[in-house]
Amino acid sequence: MNFGNNNGHVPAGPCAVCKHLAKDFCDATCNLGPYFPLHRTEDFQCVHKVFGIPNLTNILSSVKENERATTVETLILEARMRLRDRVHGSLQVEKKLQAEVKTVEKELEAVNRQLRFFRGEGEPSCPTNSDLKGKKKM
Ligand SMILES: [Zn+2]
Repeated sequence: MNFGNNNGHVPAGPCAVCKHLAKDFCDATCNLGPYFPLHRTEDFQCVHKVFGIPNLTNILSSVKENERATTVETLILEARMRLRDRVHGSLQVEKKLQAEVKTVEKELEAVNRQLRFFRGEGEPSCPTNSDLKGKKKM
């Protein structure tokens, strides 16, 4: 399968994928080389552990050419999170960020109540403990 993104450029040495496959150099059939040059061996190893080369190839062939670089970066990120937390992966990060968003929304609501009060538009209000519960330094 040719992703057609290496523009005929064949690097002198192996890419991270070819090196993993014990090839001495990257030939014209190497489709993953442009995304995983040798200096990205660690990134490739993460993606390889989580997705495997066949799935990586299938995923990249299913997206448009101009989206493949972003797809690779996303797969690397997902793989790193999955290796860090085998059960939840990126879901753990998403839950943490959602909790932070809720906390910040409550803080914003409390500040807006105070603004309305000082402008004479509303009832006096002070932030309650529940408004500030879970407040974290950012
Ligand atoms: Zn290669």
